[in-house]
Amino acid sequence: ASREPLQPFDGTGTTADGHLVPLLSNVGGGHDALKAAGLGAEGVGLLRTEFCFLNRDSEPTIDEQVAAYKAVFDAFPAKKVVVRTLDAGADKPLPFLTDSTEPNPALGVRGYRTDLATPGVLERQLQAIATAAAQSEAEVWVMAPMIATAEEAGRFAELCQAAGLETPGVMVEVPSAAVTAGSVLKRVDFASIGTNDLTQYTMAADRQLGPLAALNDPWQPAVLHLVKATVDGAASRQEAPKPVGVCGEAAADPALAVVLVGLGINSLSMSARSLAAVAAVLKSVPLERAQQLAALALGSDTAAEARAAVRAELPLLE
Ligand code: PEP
Ligand code: MG
Repeated sequence: ASREPLQPFDGTGTTADGHLVPLLSNVGGGHDALKAAGLGAEGVGLLRTEFCFLNRDSEPTIDEQVAAYKAVFDAFPAKKVVVRTLDAGADKPLPFLTDSTEPNPALGVRGYRTDLATPGVLERQLQAIATAAAQSEAEVWVMAPMIATAEEAGRFAELCQAAGLETPGVMVEVPSAAVTAGSVLKRVDFASIGTNDLTQYTMAADRQLGPLAALNDPWQPAVLHLVKATVDGAASRQEAPKPVGVCGEAAADPALAVVLVGLGINSLSMSARSLAAVAAVLKSVPLERAQQLAALALGSDTAAEARAAVRAELPLLE
């Protein structure tokens, strides 16, 4: 397939009326991070740390981890870098953390849950992140994948505090975390919605199965309702509203990005090649219009209707 040349996006993610929406990048290591910085990313919204060690059959040493994380931080001095702790399991097995004989890996000991079966790896990773952060100028946030309950969020925050990491957060990618976001977010400082897994688990449809692609669609109204529930939870029952970003592939769809901003999402993180297209469409829409389009999508009966209704209202996409 032919590829359009990568256009850097110029400056700052914003709506037409100047409401700032930082446009961040998803990266898998230092090489990706440099590329993302070159394409104008305002920071990193998701560092998939398991990508740094996919070919390893033993736990990387702390020094190896420090070097891998620092390579990313150094690409974004004075910018935000959100590090996700190892999300091993299901589509990303790591031999030193995951049990390949599990009958149902997507529902198994994956993500944050590997800390139950293999204690110590998470603490050592947090120590490595803190060490790399201390040696760099990036503003480092840390989040745990596959958080399902408020207890898990609370324990993760304690582990971060013990490691000297100041801004703990969680991914919201399990429907239970979205529904109970008010309780989950009381215990951490931010949430980042992983729409890839949130869609998979909401629709009970394996994200790797082509025949289920129509179910695995983040335009599904059920998924959009869970995004709204997360934003609502982040504002209610908190001392002050907690930031909620999106770091799943949904953020890279320009029309859906507008809907997400209209639902109250504060930042969008995507693969760097999508930044320019998302920035251009976002800049064409005032916030109040984005809110109207979000209501239109939420009120749709089907994913296809939601997508068509919103796209028809966005002149840049016609
Ligand atoms: C997600 O689930 O949406 C996400 C961003 O994480 P990953 O794709 O790495 O599971
Ligand atoms: Mg995920």
